[in-house]
Amino acid sequence: MTFKRILLKLSGESLMGEQKYGIDEQRLAQYAQQIKQVVDMGIQVGIMIGGGNIFRGLSGTSKGFDRVKGDQMGMLATTINALGLSSALKAVGVEGRVFTAIHMFPIGEQFSKWRAIDAMEKGEVAIFAGGTGCPYFTTDTGSALRGIEIEADVMLKGTRVDGIYTADPEKDPTATKFDKITYDEIYNRKLKVMDLTATTLCRDNKLPIIVFNMDKVGNLVKLLSGENLGTLVYEG
Ligand code: UDP
Repeated sequence: MTFKRILLKLSGESLMGEQKYGIDEQRLAQYAQQIKQVVDMGIQVGIMIGGGNIFRGLSGTSKGFDRVKGDQMGMLATTINALGLSSALKAVGVEGRVFTAIHMFPIGEQFSKWRAIDAMEKGEVAIFAGGTGCPYFTTDTGSALRGIEIEADVMLKGTRVDGIYTADPEKDPTATKFDKITYDEIYNRKLKVMDLTATTLCRDNKLPIIVFNMDKVGNLVKLLSGENLGTLVYEG
């Protein structure tokens, strides 16, 4: 498979690296370097970034936060990560333009499909902050939404495991990996790949997903160079 435009989803948690909270600058720099290589290959890149390394709305509710305010805090957390990624990209010579789901100028400009496409066509990376802009959603859903809006050829979901398994490979040593799987099989087997809203958006709009290990340095470029990595989710 060759791709002209991709939507890369990076989780906030992965930005922590070996830390327990916040941003690991080394991990961020590693990501920036790999993203630069992809831009240099002539591929247009949009990135949705999570916020779980800083704050998640749901975990806030258990501490007494109002869910909507908690989710807004989560969306702000994704924006902090977006700014971090943008400056890490700048350090390697790539312009990372931050598009926010909510009006936040001058932290970023408000997302518009056409401005994001214009940026990517110029070789800039479009970084999408704030998920969907609405509470009760996740950045996986935001990622599916932006992926569809910017007409990406694929959504690449970077994780810390090698793909989709029959069970959680970190808990069950007998779990085996799928090379490919249909959206429906994900529902039927009740696999926890992404939340169902995100999976459904991708299915209904025919956006293929590849789940792969983003923490192995070099994997992103290998995947985009045609190596058979991760698990492809398709319509079947
Ligand atoms: N969030 C939200 N709406 C969105 C996307 C995110 O309210 O469209 C909030 C939600 O509280 C979520 C937090 O932002 O827990 C961080 O996003 P997420 O948990 O998806 O980050 P990740 O798990 O990828 O680090």
